[in-house]
Amino acid sequence: MGIPEQRAGMVQSILVVGGGSAGWITANLLNAHIRRAGRPTTVTLVESPDIPTIGVGEATVPTIRRTLSDIGLPEQDLLTSAEATFKTLIRFRDWNPGESYDHPFDRRQRPHTDAAVRGWTAQNGQAFDRAFSTLTQLADFNIAPKSPHAPPYRGNFPYAYHLDAIKLAKRLSKFGQARGIRHKLANITEVKVSPEGQISSVETDQGETLTADLYVDCTGFRSALLGKALDVPMKSYAKYLLCDRAVTMRVPYEVYKPERILTYTLATAREAGWQWDINLQSRRGIGYVYSSQFLSDDAAEAALRRYEGPHSDTLEARHIKFTSGKREMSWKGNCVAVGLSDGFLEPLESSGLYFIEFAALAVASMLEDYAAAPEATVRYYNRISNELFQEILGFINLHYVTSKRRDTPFWQAATADEAVLDDLRDRLELWKRRSPTQFDFPGADRLFAQDSYEFILHGMKYVEGPAGTAPMPPDLSGMVAKSRSELPEHEAFLALVQKAAAARPAG
Ligand SMILES: Cc1cc2nc3c(=O)[nH]c(=O)nc-3n(C[C@H](O)[C@H](O)[C@H](O)COP(=O)(O)OP(=O)(O)OC[C@H]3O[C@@H](n4cnc5c(N)ncnc54)[C@H](O)[C@@H]3O)c2cc1C
Repeated sequence: MGIPEQRAGMVQSILVVGGGSAGWITANLLNAHIRRAGRPTTVTLVESPDIPTIGVGEATVPTIRRTLSDIGLPEQDLLTSAEATFKTLIRFRDWNPGESYDHPFDRRQRPHTDAAVRGWTAQNGQAFDRAFSTLTQLADFNIAPKSPHAPPYRGNFPYAYHLDAIKLAKRLSKFGQARGIRHKLANITEVKVSPEGQISSVETDQGETLTADLYVDCTGFRSALLGKALDVPMKSYAKYLLCDRAVTMRVPYEVYKPERILTYTLATAREAGWQWDINLQSRRGIGYVYSSQFLSDDAAEAALRRYEGPHSDTLEARHIKFTSGKREMSWKGNCVAVGLSDGFLEPLESSGLYFIEFAALAVASMLEDYAAAPEATVRYYNRISNELFQEILGFINLHYVTSKRRDTPFWQAATADEAVLDDLRDRLELWKRRSPTQFDFPGADRLFAQDSYEFILHGMKYVEGPAGTAPMPPDLSGMVAKSRSELPEHEAFLALVQKAAAARPAG
């Protein structure tokens, strides 16, 4: 096989439409892979100067470290430019009335804790997260998950970030353009589609006609290419995930400074949904995710203001509508949708940016496949993309349907039999009697598998029996004491980041 032949079967040009987190993460990841492979493919990103990005998406999962490292953005740069803080777990409050439990990122030690987990039931009364997660215990002392001397993106414990999504997209824009991504500011006014169902060009309000071998639709909920131009319908998951609105606020530390900058996302169940509380370096982000069927926008905003207290009077509230659902195909012809244009599942487990990471990496690794065998590539991509959505849909659904709350019409509907995802039904019956096992999660490289399910199911005190002998949980006290003596507190780590940034020459 000679070089000219390979070139003939190559994706020569990629046009990314949209400049939110999806657009800039995808453009940067594709560009980094293309450059490393020494291919001449061009990556162009066009974004509207008028349509704002969604501006939320502040909590991530640990794979974000691999993605940003793959892109080449230094960790110190991320921490400074997106004012990121560490996230080591989600703390779920009131998902059963008056209770709290964690979904941490650390994994329990196998196999010597297997027996203790197998014997764990709701009756033993102890907190599962405290018994099996070092991160849960460290969160009480606000300990950072890594030492300042650890290599970039590597921690003493698994971690992700809370970050400012708008600032991250801005930083990735500058970073990507410096590495060869071509950038245009224009509104796409028309998408031309050939009789064979391929996009032939996109027209801008600047009078330009843009063409590419592959179009990446990152236009957010508008889904201007895949949804509108190619007419790929949306499949709704509203039956399983009832929430369809959010009201959000930013709380600058000048307005209200919390005692600590938390290393976790706080997710508190509310009357008609749940509420997030996320701490960044100079502000908090709070939001109430709710179902419009059970709560009005005004009542949701009032509830969020009540939570925040009197100082919230000065803060602006943003209202966002969304649907939990996915396009029936993510990739059709020469157009693949990444981000909200493809689909969205309500943000309870911070999976939005993960879908983007997954899609961008999969597309990058399939560019040659696509050039050689487009139809098989598109079919296969659609399959794995669907499987991923189904997997995460099931995991989020689990949080609701295992709740014992029945105190409001929302909670009665969210826990009703018809809200249970079919895929979960059999396993939920089994999990009443036993903890999950590895055989409950077929398939490699899942984002949420046995450990995550254990933390939710035992956190919700769902596993009832059979009653066994009292299990001996592992002794984590040595690990906790060692980590507390070796790792800095979260604020101390962030102060070092800010000091290092101030000492660097501007530019
Ligand atoms: C309430 C809520 C909370 C969330 N929380 C989280 C979270 O905690 N963690 C997480 O990972 N994810 C979260 N997400 C998801 C996350 O916000 C998105 O996945 C992420 O921001 C990607 O958005 P996007 O880039 O696809 O779309 P957008 O940010 O909407 O960007 C769309 C882009 O397309 C451009 N555009 C649109 N139409 C045109 C046109 N005609 N011509 C040119 N350009 C155009 C716009 O200008 C913009 O640049 C949340 C989402 C919601 C709704």
